[in-house]
Amino acid sequence: MTEHSRAARRLDGVGSTIFAEMSALAVRTGSVNLGQGFPDKSGPDTVIEAVYDAMRAGRNQYPPGRGTPELVDAVIRHQQRHYGLGLAPENVVVTTGATEAIAGALLGLVDPGDEVVVWEPYYDSYRAMIQFAGGVRRPVTLRAPDYRFAADELEAAVTDRTKLLLLNTPHNPTGHVFDRAELETVADVARRHDLVVVTDEVYEHLTFDDHEHVPFATLPGMFERTVTISSSGKTFSFTGWKIGWATGPADLVAAVEGAKNWLSYSSGAPFQPAIAQALDHEAAFHEQLREDLQKKRDYLCDALAALGLDVHVPQGTYFVTTDVSSWGHADGKAFCAALAERARVVAIPNQVFYEDESSEGRHLIRWAFCKEQDVLEEGVRRLRGVDLRA
Ligand code: PMP
Ligand code: GLN
Repeated sequence: MTEHSRAARRLDGVGSTIFAEMSALAVRTGSVNLGQGFPDKSGPDTVIEAVYDAMRAGRNQYPPGRGTPELVDAVIRHQQRHYGLGLAPENVVVTTGATEAIAGALLGLVDPGDEVVVWEPYYDSYRAMIQFAGGVRRPVTLRAPDYRFAADELEAAVTDRTKLLLLNTPHNPTGHVFDRAELETVADVARRHDLVVVTDEVYEHLTFDDHEHVPFATLPGMFERTVTISSSGKTFSFTGWKIGWATGPADLVAAVEGAKNWLSYSSGAPFQPAIAQALDHEAAFHEQLREDLQKKRDYLCDALAALGLDVHVPQGTYFVTTDVSSWGHADGKAFCAALAERARVVAIPNQVFYEDESSEGRHLIRWAFCKEQDVLEEGVRRLRGVDLRA
């Protein structure tokens, strides 16, 4: 038997994704899954029918690597309609979910030794992909209660080796929606240091109250240095279809495609025309989804607060973060393990999204509210049924 690991060193420390781990725990313990962010209700039936139609019409072989022309055109129309951005086909590449767009952007744009500034807590694939590219992470921390960042910390994170800023708004896991002033601070740094910005905007349509999503690429002068990533998963509740896209100036998009070519080459043939149809005709779906999610956010935030938890009400996304130190817990991972066994509810320990697991996020827990109301109610009923105080 070989004693040393036969896996490549690029896998060191990245482990498996927390979402798969916690969903497996939910199945094993019969828990209500408020962990992994996926809705338990599918998107529009008309869009599902469009997939069947595409399959019956024979659209079952490799589509173009860049994306099916209908979807590329629908993404162009979407960016124009919602944000006033005028794109051409060379500004768009379709990917296998936002996940592949993130991989393509980092593998296509980061050289070994390049530094990547990333706002923590950060989505877990960022860590893996920066590492796969041989890049060096430079975190800037978003701090409770409002999850804004300090401009001087951003400035301090940038060095002469910085290649890229990796932004995410609306932000997973905190639910923070970067406002225009914050984005202008980022833009100023990008301009002065001549940096590329990769911005993950998969929750672009899921903002609450009067919080408005501002695409980073719409800031003056920023389009030319920005790769914007989005996905149909969150906007249309088809997370398992894995149809995403990256948009930006032709050379940056070509770099993303250059890597994507060797990852999947092309993505889900029959799903692409269906998502094109969704982008063109189903805006009412995500408007309704946003309203429903806001009510569910309010329900879950109120219920968690009534249980004595310190709740950070999110401005967007699927998620609410609570601080469990008010229940006497110092370690989120241990808390989530006990939560599944004792209450049969699964949530996500935010500490895994921080560079230093023993710091800021140690007692922060993320709960997903993108579930049916009766599922949320059952989760809350279970939480009320046991005393989870340490
Ligand atoms: N980025 C963020 C911030 C996410 O929350 C997710 C999960 N949807 C992704 C990227 C991955 O998106 P996709 O499922 O389209 O690969
Ligand atoms: N984006 C989802 C979340 O944050 C999960 C996606 C995944 O499982 N990779 O929960």
